[in-house]
Amino acid sequence: MELKKNDRFTVRIEDMSDEGAGIGKTDGYTWFIKDTVMGDLVEAGVMKQKKNYGFARLVKVIEPSPYRITPRCPVARACGGCQFQAMSYDQQLRFKERKIYNNLRRIGGLENLRLPGEGIQSTGEKTQEMTGEKSREISGEKSGQRIIEMEPIIGMENPWRYRNKAQFPFGRDKNGRIIYGFYAGRTHSIIETQDCLLGVEENQIILKKIREYMEKEGISPYDENTHTGLVRHALIRKGFSTGELMVCLVINGESLPKSQTLVHYLKEIPGMTSISYNINQEKTNVILGSRVVNLYGPGYITDYIGEVKYQISPQSFYQVNPVQTKRLYETALEYAGLTGKETVWDLYCGIGTISLFLARQAKKVYGVEIVPAAIEDARTNAALNGIENAEFFVGKAEEVLPEQYEKNQVYADVIVVDPPRKGCDKVCLDTIVKMGPEKVVYVSCDSATLARDVKYLEERGYEVTRVRGVDQFGWSGHVEVVTCLQRVNS
Ligand code: SAH
Repeated sequence: MELKKNDRFTVRIEDMSDEGAGIGKTDGYTWFIKDTVMGDLVEAGVMKQKKNYGFARLVKVIEPSPYRITPRCPVARACGGCQFQAMSYDQQLRFKERKIYNNLRRIGGLENLRLPGEGIQSTGEKTQEMTGEKSREISGEKSGQRIIEMEPIIGMENPWRYRNKAQFPFGRDKNGRIIYGFYAGRTHSIIETQDCLLGVEENQIILKKIREYMEKEGISPYDENTHTGLVRHALIRKGFSTGELMVCLVINGESLPKSQTLVHYLKEIPGMTSISYNINQEKTNVILGSRVVNLYGPGYITDYIGEVKYQISPQSFYQVNPVQTKRLYETALEYAGLTGKETVWDLYCGIGTISLFLARQAKKVYGVEIVPAAIEDARTNAALNGIENAEFFVGKAEEVLPEQYEKNQVYADVIVVDPPRKGCDKVCLDTIVKMGPEKVVYVSCDSATLARDVKYLEERGYEVTRVRGVDQFGWSGHVEVVTCLQRVNS
């Protein structure tokens, strides 16, 4: 089928891209079509064609997908933060499971991986009366191939208002009125929003109070184009298990005039614990500057993940979905199978969240992280919790681990890795293989690089035994995965 720009065609949407575009095929040629949902039959208009794939726009939905829902948020399309708001949450979870599965099979070469619930069916005919010997044969054990059935993804009971942190830009509308909201997808124009359904309810009232303060005291919002005006962003955080609230205004100036009015307005809000401002006078997209001035409270809020307590300042890194984070760490802990005797290395440890979670069940935990401030937080948090068997190193995992191994012959029963999207460095993986821990627990935010690294470890004496997805970011294409790799003894 020869198609030119603006030609119309009909296509069934079979899959979704990570960015939330629908994917359909005509004569084997792949189309990416925004605003469609897996299962839709649509009429689409050609926008741009490349050799192997093209982009088209939605003209009309001919037959809506059974998974199609009405986005709850009125600005879902413009904001672009939630690319999957038109697809049911349940179907999103299936999509995420399949994404992990496809990557681990295609890139990771795990041919014996099965989707949750498909451990036996897909390898052959399954019968009701199948027992022991027979089922093992079908599941491939006799031919030497183990079947690994993924465990069902851990979703949220209620995938709304799960974020404990939000950053709202301030600006003016055409009439000069002070507004706040979100940047429209990939742009810097502010879409005015009263509320974000992923954020906490308190955001609305806090933002209203900040605007009231600005209007009363004649404080201007920042203007990116002219690099003038004062208030750039409001950073709001909430400790979900303590109810404590933090507000930090990011300003383009040395000080915040009439700041006591702001404090007066905000401290009335139940839970308000910390109010501060942060100075950022650079022409930059980076939200926070380096200096924080405290206005009210201790300068931090407190929160718990499981039993571990954290002090969170405006600049601290902290997981944004603490409920699912706890489940993620519990899965990692379960996979690590600690008895109290183990030495554990936690690579890419951030503020030591996983390290501290594991420390109570291990003999000793070593954390490695590249950002010095994060390690400072990790040490503070260890002390705060009276955890004495965790030790932290600042540096690259691929440098600290080999150095420690070569110099001090350090040992590990379990190595946990939680790298950024690009995955682990080869030197890091090679050192892990040399150290030969019984188990590697790989926590990943990108199943494609996870699959690449898993393949590398599988070729060097490890085999995947367990895989489980955890959804931390409902309505987006992101998914976390925990994988357990076991050393093969022979
Ligand atoms: N495990 C932590 C953080 C994981 S995010 C948690 O659950 O909170 C990945 C972390 O890896 C980030 O903190 C990042 O700063 C760090 N990092 C990135 N490259 C690194 C490297 N080469 N060596 C060590 N840490 C690195």
